[in-house]
Parts: sequence; C-alpha cells; structure tokens
Amino acid sequence: MLINKELHKKTIELFNTKNEALKSIAQQIRAKTISNNVYLRAIIEISNICEKDCLYCGIRSSNKRKKHYFLNSDDILGLTKSAYDLGYRSIVIQSGEQTSNHFIEFIDKIIRKIKENFDIKIVLSCGEQQQQVYKQWKKSGADRYLLRIETSCPELYKKIHPNNSKHSFKSRIKCLMDLKKLNYQTGTGIMIGLPGQTLTDLAKDVEFFLNMDIDMLGMGPYIPNPQTPLYKDADINLEENYHNTLKMISICRILMPDINIASTTALEAIHSYGRIEGILYGANVLMPNITPEKFVQDYSLYENKPKSMGLQKTYLNELGKALKKLSYSLILKDPGAPLHYINKHTP
Ligand code: SAH
Ligand code: SF4
Repeated sequence: MLINKELHKKTIELFNTKNEALKSIAQQIRAKTISNNVYLRAIIEISNICEKDCLYCGIRSSNKRKKHYFLNSDDILGLTKSAYDLGYRSIVIQSGEQTSNHFIEFIDKIIRKIKENFDIKIVLSCGEQQQQVYKQWKKSGADRYLLRIETSCPELYKKIHPNNSKHSFKSRIKCLMDLKKLNYQTGTGIMIGLPGQTLTDLAKDVEFFLNMDIDMLGMGPYIPNPQTPLYKDADINLEENYHNTLKMISICRILMPDINIASTTALEAIHSYGRIEGILYGANVLMPNITPEKFVQDYSLYENKPKSMGLQKTYLNELGKALKKLSYSLILKDPGAPLHYINKHTP
C-alpha cells in the first residue's frame, strides 16, 4: 500500500538512533515549534460496556468476568465541574463502543449539558459511529475525537480482531476520514509491540499519520491482558514495548512537529515515571484519569492500570513540580488546541 521510500528510510534511521540522541533531537524541535508547555485533559471512562470484541482488550464483549457500569449524567457533570475547578479546560469522554440510539442520545445530551455549563473542550473517544452520529455530536458541541487505528497494517489488524464486519479495517479508516471531513480535531494512534508487529509496520504507521494529516496522536505500549485471547500469543517484552513507544513519540515529534502527542496511561502502567518520560521524548499532553476509583478496575483494558488521580490537587501539584524541574510548564486553564489544526484553519 503505502511506502514513500525516502520517508521509510528516514523513519528506520531515526528508529536505529540511540535513545538519548533521538530524545535530544525531538526536544530541540519541540522547543522551537510548540514550546515546552504541557497540556492536560481529564479522562472519564463513562462505561465499560462494549459491543466489540477486540482480541487484546479487557473490556471486550466476550469477557464475562467484568461487572458492567455506566455513569449517569449527574456523575459526569459533577466530575466535569471538579475538573474545571482544578483548571482543566479539556475533558475526554471515553467508552466501550456502543451504537444504540439510547447511547447516541445520552452522549448528545451530555455534550450539550457540559457546553451549557462550562467553557471546556470536549474530546470524544467512543469508537466507530455512523457519519450522521459524528455530525450530530459535533453540532451539539464536541470539539475533538480520538480513534486509534491500532495498526495501519491491514494484515496485522486482521490478526488482532475477530474476522467479521464489526471489526473492519476499512470501516475504521472511513470513520477517521468522516471525522476529518466534519472538522473535528482528529486524533489517532497505535499500540506498540503487538504480536507479529515489525519495524516496517511501525514505519508505515508513521507514514499513515502523515498521510492522514492528523492533529493528535496517542500511542501506547501493547500490554497483554490474561483475560483476552491475544494473551496466549504473548511472547512480549514489556520493557521493549515501553522503549519502542518512547522512540515512536520522538520520531513522530521530529516528523510532525506541530501536532499534539499524548504521553499515554499505558506507559505509566509499565513504569511509574512513564508519563513523564513520554514528555521528555516529545509528548506535550497528559491525560490524568478522573473516573471514580470504584470503577477503574472494571475498565481494565490491560493489567496494572494506574489509579484515578486526576482530581487530587496534590497529584497535579506534584506533576507540575516534577515537570518544572525538567524545564517543562504544566499549563492550566488552557485547552491547548493542536497547533497543527490551528495552522490548517488559519487563512
Ligand atoms: N472503545 C474505544 C475507546 C476505548 S479503547 C475504541 O476502541 O476506540 C481505548 C484504547 O485502548 C484502544 O484504542 C486501544 O489502543 C487501547 N487498548 C486496549 N487494550 C489494550 C492493551 N491490552 N494494551 C494496550 N492498549 C490497549
Ligand atoms: Fe471495545 Fe475499544 Fe476495547 Fe475494542 S478496544 S473491545 S472497541 S473498548
């Protein structure tokens, strides 16, 4: 499919650069283009009910061991208020994929209520939906959408999903195209270290991000979950997945200087300082979890998920201090729109 030979060579070359050198190039480019600011998004995992059955994910529909939950609108508004009061100006509503009218209308209502009450950007991460639904949610006030392609390699995509129309690579691409057409600030991403994933696949992922002209990127290490079918294929080296994710963050910062890149929770599931390291390698967004603690373990996509700390003032203070020591500034009261999107839309 893809292959821009020059870009491919460059990506592989960067990948083979020693971590310290790579990190330093990414840091220089970042400081010059988007500065050392770090922006926050509070993430609320509103429901673990999912109609899909991705072979790697702990909340897949066939996993009967989890207890279902669905936060109500008062809970979500209460969490949004607490986040707003702490200085968050961007909130992520994430959920297992649901396509019922009830779900669509519920999200619609929540978007309207949040927008009526708070000056805050709404990021949705609610999976694949009809174009009409994305349109309705946008009209109601949603600003951004995150939909990871997971891997841009169709063969690998097939291997990590059930072979049916609900898990189609083509549909996922169409969704991303729809989101862009509707002018969402559009984010995608991948898991790194999937069984059978090669360096060539990762280089193609980078090319995919560039061709899709995305605004935001969230990449995380693949973490095998024993409650999923893909676990049995697990000849996985978590340390390697961790380091390759850091490398990919730097490579993407170098090749796409003005996009927003998140330092993801999954990095922290491997090392407690993981999210800070992500920032050092070029990420400029942190997404603290604000889901009520009693539900966090029911939303276990993978093992060893960190606690929900995003509403603890001390946590944010510590984060700010740790970043400051490293010459980064944690920015409150600012939604931190991707410069890439702003540039695209400024005549
Ligand atoms: N249902 C929505 C959003 C929730 S899943 C969607 O699929 O888009 C959010 C992300 O969790 C997925 O995109 C996937 O990349 C990640 N994820 C799921 N299982 C994982 C695992 N075992 N290791 C690492 N990341 C995982
Ligand atoms: Fe559902 Fe998303 Fe998990 Fe797939 S990755 S099973 S769509 S929650």
